[in-house]
Amino acid sequence: MASPNQDKKVVIVGAGIFGVSTALWMYKRGGYSVTILDKAQILPAPDAASTDINKIIRSGDYADPTIAALNVDAVNEWRKPEWEGTYHESGVVMVAEAGSAGNAYVESSYKNVCANGIPATHCKTSSEIRAAWPAKFRGEDVYSSLSHAVASIVPSAKNSDVTPCLGEFNNKTAYLNPQSGWAEAGRAVAVGLRRITHEYGGVVRAGCEVRGLVEEQGQGGKKTVKGVELTTGEKVLGDIVIIATGAWTPALFAQDGMEQLTQVVATGQSVAKLQLTPEEAERYSKNPVIFDMKTGFYVFPPTPENIIKCAIHDKGYTYQAHEANPNSVNDEASAKTGVSVPRTVLTPGGEGGFIPLEMLKRLRQHLCEVYPELGKRDFIATRLCWYLDTPDGDWLIDWHPKKENLLFATAGCGHAFKFLPNIGREIVNKIEGTLAPALENKWRFDGRNSARDAGSDSDLRGNEHAERVAIKIEELATAHDLKADRFATPQKIGTHSRESKL
Ligand SMILES: Cc1cc2nc3c(=O)[nH]c(=O)nc-3n(C[C@H](O)[C@H](O)[C@H](O)COP(=O)(O)OP(=O)(O)OC[C@H]3O[C@@H](n4cnc5c(N)ncnc54)[C@H](O)[C@@H]3O)c2cc1C
Repeated sequence: MASPNQDKKVVIVGAGIFGVSTALWMYKRGGYSVTILDKAQILPAPDAASTDINKIIRSGDYADPTIAALNVDAVNEWRKPEWEGTYHESGVVMVAEAGSAGNAYVESSYKNVCANGIPATHCKTSSEIRAAWPAKFRGEDVYSSLSHAVASIVPSAKNSDVTPCLGEFNNKTAYLNPQSGWAEAGRAVAVGLRRITHEYGGVVRAGCEVRGLVEEQGQGGKKTVKGVELTTGEKVLGDIVIIATGAWTPALFAQDGMEQLTQVVATGQSVAKLQLTPEEAERYSKNPVIFDMKTGFYVFPPTPENIIKCAIHDKGYTYQAHEANPNSVNDEASAKTGVSVPRTVLTPGGEGGFIPLEMLKRLRQHLCEVYPELGKRDFIATRLCWYLDTPDGDWLIDWHPKKENLLFATAGCGHAFKFLPNIGREIVNKIEGTLAPALENKWRFDGRNSARDAGSDSDLRGNEHAERVAIKIEELATAHDLKADRFATPQKIGTHSRESKL
């Protein structure tokens, strides 16, 4: 390890998984001293994409063999004691409608899982898919038919009424990967932050919102980045600045004196949660995660707090701040330029975390299809969680083309969390010029392949009729809409029925 005097001073903006993993790998590699800055007053930031009760951890479940291999490596890292048991290997069922584009993705993904030596089970029929769940979920005595279950969404369910039962998965194909699962997401980020400060002596500063870069004119018309400026006016200097600001990145770069980014967009994605009793949670505790590549719907087994989360991996919604929020320069930039910026629980007016009513209806419909009895339950909360999307679904890990010493490590595209244990290693490889050419090409700033390679799941997030739309505040759900009896008959999924990618 280089002596502290020779360490490169690195400023990382953003304490989500990209920032945390990069800092960890810089200290593992040696030769760096890191300061992480985050605008949130407490960390992990309550509204960061990385802060959540759980995230799916696929193990090789990607159609792209390069990313599948990187993903298997991530899971090997997740199993290490340093992640303090935040990873739970429940198994994941990847399901899709027979003959759909999502099915082609699932088949390629299955091949990659097998190629990585994982004993996945291919399930070609409804009963083979249902066999991935404990036997009590398949009992004919508690399950009559999906249509009956869906029709029975009536207001009477009490919290203790949960009877395990499972959808039929008609016309679906799937595979079960027993080595995939889920992570306690927020706790894992907290573990990483603690290691950075306690184990390695790194600096992590909350309440530090960056509003711009400190630059000098460099050679060949390029600017040289010397650090960042906070909203307080304080300048934090470093040899390298890493932008890991997730869905806030477009708004940060839309601010005065910065160059707008056109290849990334912040999209709001819809999540809902149910509270189970300890007894109910015990009944659902041995279940796999299910991820439907046709609808984008996924649902987890219960957390240690007995909460079940479900969500839809979707094209998502954009949001343009109309009024400058005095607490956020990002909102001001969005109001001025029209770039999409996250509307979160920390945005004035967004405290309730309510999602579009259309998405709430879809969530309940899909929940009914997988766990009919849970579909009768009130949701306890919803959340709009923000992806930073690229058109091809690949991340952005590259130097800024016109500014020296400025690196982007962002654009998780809804699937980066699972790489928390190893993505930082690849980011350090990028900095040190040792990143594998295949990854370098995938994650570059300019000139990406808009035709997409066969491994991209980006197109599967919405069918050809589904366009990304702006949030309409008047169309957001209310607390009343979280009640199970709000929609006596499950709403037919309308024109926004989207074929989804994972
Ligand atoms: C609903 C949902 C479900 C998901 N499910 C999965 C899943 O199951 N599996 C999976 O692998 N991935 C999943 N993802 C994707 C994954 O969560 C993201 O790809 C990943 O967490 C992105 O990490 P990040 O570090 O880029 O961003 P974030 O975690 O959002 O972190 C960015 C940080 O930057 C800070 N910041 C922003 N602007 C500034 C500024 N100007 N100054 C200082 N700090 C700033 C923010 O406060 C924040 O803490 C999901 C995402 C969502 C939204």
